[in-house]
Amino acid sequence: MQVAMINDEILPLDKLDSAYLDRGLYFGDGVYEVVRSYDGKIFALDEHLARFANSLAGIEIDDVNIEQIRKKIIDAFETAKIQNARIYFHITRGSAQREHNWDDHIKPNFFLTITELPDFTGLKEKGIAVLIQPDLRWKKCWIKSLNLLANILARHAAAAKGCDEAILVDDAGMITEGSGSSFFAVSGRGLRTAPLTANILPSITRSYVIKAAEKLNIEVVEKSLTPEEAKNADELFLTVTTKDIIPVIKFDDETIGNSQPGAITKNLISEFLKFTK
Ligand code: PLP
Repeated sequence: MQVAMINDEILPLDKLDSAYLDRGLYFGDGVYEVVRSYDGKIFALDEHLARFANSLAGIEIDDVNIEQIRKKIIDAFETAKIQNARIYFHITRGSAQREHNWDDHIKPNFFLTITELPDFTGLKEKGIAVLIQPDLRWKKCWIKSLNLLANILARHAAAAKGCDEAILVDDAGMITEGSGSSFFAVSGRGLRTAPLTANILPSITRSYVIKAAEKLNIEVVEKSLTPEEAKNADELFLTVTTKDIIPVIKFDDETIGNSQPGAITKNLISEFLKFTK
């Protein structure tokens, strides 16, 4: 008899829930998105769906109808009735007996959760500390892959040192991005961030921060920085969908600015929030 064992329970393999055979579980063989709502309005859904379509194409999952995904998200969001929601969804290649190569007829699995976002006002007023870590990820970070081992290990190392985020540094000594965020530096009235070619995720928040900077006549230079340059910046901040812009007041034990969120970061937060209305 072919069997499976889940913790302490042995059962016949053919009685196993197919969720246990999901290739997402075995191989991280899937892609995901995180979208949020502000006061009952989903923000930048088109951009997230476009990136999701790119991620799916990047791992050769071809037969997903993005308009059906949009409908699922909206249906679930209307059911949840959460004003400031975190909408997480993923598609895996499907469920099958473990085998590296896949059968092209396998049916993708969709999964979604909608949860309430905490209020990040305090975090934005106080700022956070970050720690640098080597960027040990694969070379296709533009794909929002379920494989996040390198990201979570870096974040855990940062947390062990009392930091909220790990800032990843590639083999050439340049900052790519955070383990789950994009990274920006402010020097004078200029903004600096890694270009999209630098093996980073094309962050949706990053693109809106660049638009906000243009509105405020702040110059944006898309050129990678070294940790040394980051330490000498006037202000630093991170961007990510769930929290939009988070000031960084400590970089690898070095105090940034006067240990408080800077004026340009604060202006960018106000300008960014106008896009969410
Ligand atoms: N970079 C990485 C590695 C991420 O995981 C994320 C978000 O999860 C971001 C950047 C920010 O992307 P977005 O602004 O689209 O949330």
